[in-house]
Amino acid sequence: MELMNCRNCKRLFNYVTGEKLCPQCKDLLEEKFEEVKEYIRDNPGANINTVADECETTVKQIKKWVREARLTFADDSLVGLECERCGKMIHCGRFCKDCAGGLEEAMNGMFRQDIQLKGKPSSGGKMRFLE
Ligand SMILES: [Zn+2]
Ligand SMILES: [Zn+2]
Repeated sequence: MELMNCRNCKRLFNYVTGEKLCPQCKDLLEEKFEEVKEYIRDNPGANINTVADECETTVKQIKKWVREARLTFADDSLVGLECERCGKMIHCGRFCKDCAGGLEEAMNGMFRQDIQLKGKPSSGGKMRFLE
């Protein structure tokens, strides 16, 4: 635990983990999140700038929530975030489907290789994790 200035109100507080915000500002941020969520639910397809204006928050903050997969852009939205791997536009999270799938495949590949190295082919093609 260390003493830190709140990023928002500059008050000193005991920093543990996560956002550099004091407990009061953290609560306010949660309230803001609820407000934004409600607004998007009531106004599907609203522009991110409009949402930021109407809810008195920032586009940056909204994008952060989208990265954290707490919010998502509509499927037909013309704005979104860039995939952190290939830069393609996405509506939620950090990677596009291709990159997320590619990462998964790469991991599966490693897993298969691992099994082969150990000389334990899976029976019937079905795999399970060995304890
Ligand atoms: Zn604060
Ligand atoms: Zn991608």
